Amino acid sequence: MTAQPRVLLVEDEAELAAMLAGLLAEEGYVVDVAPDGHTGLHYGLSRRYDVAVLDRGLPAVEGLDLLARLRRTGITTPVLVLSALGNPADRVEGLDAGAEDYLAKPFDIDELLARIRALHRRHLDTARTLPVPGGALDLDTREVHTAAGPVSLSQREADLLTALAARPKQVFSRDDLLARCFPEAENPVVVDTYVHYLRRKLGRPVVDTIRGRGYRLGGP
Ligand code: CA
Repeated sequence: MTAQPRVLLVEDEAELAAMLAGLLAEEGYVVDVAPDGHTGLHYGLSRRYDVAVLDRGLPAVEGLDLLARLRRTGITTPVLVLSALGNPADRVEGLDAGAEDYLAKPFDIDELLARIRALHRRHLDTARTLPVPGGALDLDTREVHTAAGPVSLSQREADLLTALAARPKQVFSRDDLLARCFPEAENPVVVDTYVHYLRRKLGRPVVDTIRGRGYRLGGP
């Protein structure tokens, strides 16, 4: 079974948010609705999404500000911005802030759903980062983008974090991680050592120890 795609919807108009959430759920998405920018930022930083839909005019943290903050932490989730302002300059602002797509209110619901599907497909094709606690791991550069800036990992550290982050809910035994990430080593203590290195660089919550079973990517 493949996981259901997750959508973050940040929209302060309660009726519109409820209607969109209902339609997206019918299409098979798991939807989190945030009624203001602050909640949206919290969700966006702590959970992984396949697509985010952000209203521009939001209480607490304005939509484009929210988008810029997510992008600064390396989150590459495709974003569609909704706006009551439909002029071209406004659209350019949205795209400059890091949005993949932009739709002016009032919009056609079927068009919105089609664009969300397209963003999700594109994301599946191009995702070269993995979400990790506190940031995102860039698989090409071996850097973790965090709110405090990028953190460089060694090849071994990146291999271990990639294995854990690729299946964030799975508990891996030390022997399993040894075989995946350190095929030339024999003693699983090397896994413990590299977990220690990752925690030292990225903070203790980056990896959870599951007593008697092994390790798992840290939870949000
Ligand atoms: Ca609004």
